Amino acid sequence: MKKLFVFDLDGTLAESKSPLSPDMADLLIELLGVMKVAVISGGSWAQFETQLLGSLPHAEGFENLFLLPTCGTQFFHFDGEWTKVYSEDLSSEERNTIIASLTAALEESGITVERVWGEAIEDRGSQITLSVLGQEAPLEVKRDWDPDFSKRRSIIAILEPLLPGFAINMGGTTSIDVTKPGIDKAYGIRKLVDHLGIPVAEMLFAGDAIFDGGNDYPAQEAGVDSILVRDPRETARVIQTVIACLGDGTTQIVSPGRPT
Ligand SMILES: [Mg+2]
Repeated sequence: MKKLFVFDLDGTLAESKSPLSPDMADLLIELLGVMKVAVISGGSWAQFETQLLGSLPHAEGFENLFLLPTCGTQFFHFDGEWTKVYSEDLSSEERNTIIASLTAALEESGITVERVWGEAIEDRGSQITLSVLGQEAPLEVKRDWDPDFSKRRSIIAILEPLLPGFAINMGGTTSIDVTKPGIDKAYGIRKLVDHLGIPVAEMLFAGDAIFDGGNDYPAQEAGVDSILVRDPRETARVIQTVIACLGDGTTQIVSPGRPT
């Protein structure tokens, strides 16, 4: 029996850097009525607030919701208000090294962009993220920029020897995340096991980047039954299915009949 559904945020629950749709917000609230829900993202707490919580009505069931920004190096639960359980940050020396290396690797890659929307490098405390087109780049521009991941792979190839003591992963549509080694979604999954006492076998995970080099892949590697989704619309169908299976039977799923 699955007790906890873990989701990626960007590209899974919501379009990249965009707020949750009203339909997805309703589905999540409904899901919180039947099981625990966690969201693990490379994004910062500020991103969780604007992208996720800003779209969720303050509803019953928040005690079943657990939020893990920056891959679980931060952990928030709801205790009358959103409360930080812990935060594990990089030292200022580590942050400086990472920022200098990201800048150097992008320059050396020869990849040039015509325009950058907002800051390209964001310090998220426990994670530094390079968003090549900038944090505020329009989604349609970001989607077209590196659909086959080749640009980011070439930047990462330069970056790896510069940052031997760190983990480097692709996230979102244009970004590269740098953290301490071992900080990935598998780390977040272990934090959920520790803090909620729910074994991996009783978890489900859904993400849009469950493939080698994708930032959701470690969750599957950690042994969680994982569902690769194309986009939030597909995630919505997965959630509807789970609610239908675990809920009180009021959600109707229409599917082609099968001979019995
Ligand atoms: Mg994603």
